[in-house]
Amino acid sequence: MRHMRRGRVLAAVAAVGCGVLALRAAAVQPDVPDRSGWHWYKGNTHTHTIESDGDSTPEEVTRWYRDQGYQFLVLSDHNVLVSIDALSRTFAIPERFLLVPGEEVTDSFDAKPLHINGLNVTRLVEPRHGTSVRDTLQRNVDAIREARGVPHVNHPNFGWAITPDDLAGLERYRLLEIFNGHPFVNNLGGGGAPGLEDVWDGLLRAGRRVYGIAVDDAHYFKRPWDPKAPKPGQGWVVVRAPRLDPAALMASLEAGDFYASTGVELDDYAADATGIRVRVRVTGQTRYRLTLIDATGEVRTADGPEAHFTLTGRRGFARVRVQDSNGARAWTQPVFLDGRP
Ligand SMILES: [Zn+2]
Ligand SMILES: [Zn+2]
Repeated sequence: MRHMRRGRVLAAVAAVGCGVLALRAAAVQPDVPDRSGWHWYKGNTHTHTIESDGDSTPEEVTRWYRDQGYQFLVLSDHNVLVSIDALSRTFAIPERFLLVPGEEVTDSFDAKPLHINGLNVTRLVEPRHGTSVRDTLQRNVDAIREARGVPHVNHPNFGWAITPDDLAGLERYRLLEIFNGHPFVNNLGGGGAPGLEDVWDGLLRAGRRVYGIAVDDAHYFKRPWDPKAPKPGQGWVVVRAPRLDPAALMASLEAGDFYASTGVELDDYAADATGIRVRVRVTGQTRYRLTLIDATGEVRTADGPEAHFTLTGRRGFARVRVQDSNGARAWTQPVFLDGRP
C-alpha cells in the first residue's frame, strides 16, 4: 500500500495542477511559478550499500527502489561517493527512474555522531572536523555547498548528538530529517529531549526556513524479519518538479516543494499564504486526521480524507500533518506568513 505507481502519480499531478491554478487566480502571490505541467516524484535521499556499512550491493539496492516504484534514489554511503555512471546505464529510465549522486558526510565531535548528507555533490566531500558540535556541522555543510551539493542534516537525536540550539545556530541548510527509518535514532525524543517534529517547529517559530524530510537510512535489505534492522521503505519524500533530473529535484527540495511521508500518499496538495488544501489517497478502511500547525502549536484538526485550511489571520508559518489510523504520517511543508521569506 505504500507504493506509488506511475499512473497514480500523474493523476495526482493533474489534481494538484488545478489547485495551484485556482490559488494563482486569486493573485495572492504573483511570483508563484506556473507549475501546471510539473510532476510528482517519489524518492529516498538516504540509503547505504556495501560501499560502507550496508548489506547489499549498489545494484541490489538500486533495483529494490526501482522495483518498488520510487522515481529517484540517492545512495549515501559514509564518506564514500558511489559512482552512479554504470548504475544509471543499467537502471535509469527517462522520467521514470533516476539516480542522484550522494554521500553521507560522517563526522563526530566529542564522540557525538554528526552526519550530513550531501545530495548531488560534484565530488567526494571529506569530513572537515571542528571545534564544537555546531562548528563541525557548519564546516561540513559548507564543504557540501562548495561541492555544489545540497546538505540535509541527519537524525539529530542519534546519539543525542545535535540539540535544537545547534540547529538554530547552523546556517546554509534548508533540509532536516524529521523522520529517519533507522530503528535507533530517537525520532520521537524522550528523557527531556524534544522529538524532531517539535525541533522543527522551534526552528520555524524562530523564523528559520527549514523543510522536513523523511528518509529510510536503510542498511539491510536481506533481513526483513529483523525488527532491529534498518530496512528500506520506511520514509520518503514526494517532490514536485518540472522534470526528473537532479538539478530540478534539488531546486524543488530547497524550495520546500514536496511532502514527506511514512506511508500516507496525497492526491492533492496545494498551499499558499491564503490556505493549505490536502486530499489523502484513501487505502482500504484506513481513516485520517489532518492537523494544522502554526507558530502557536496545533490549532485545528479535521477528519480526512481531505481538508482546506484557510490561513487568514495566522502568523509565522503554517503546515499540515496527516496521521492515519494505522500510524503512518505525511507532512506538508510550511507556508511562511507575515511576508517572511
Ligand atoms: Zn547517519
Ligand atoms: Zn545513514
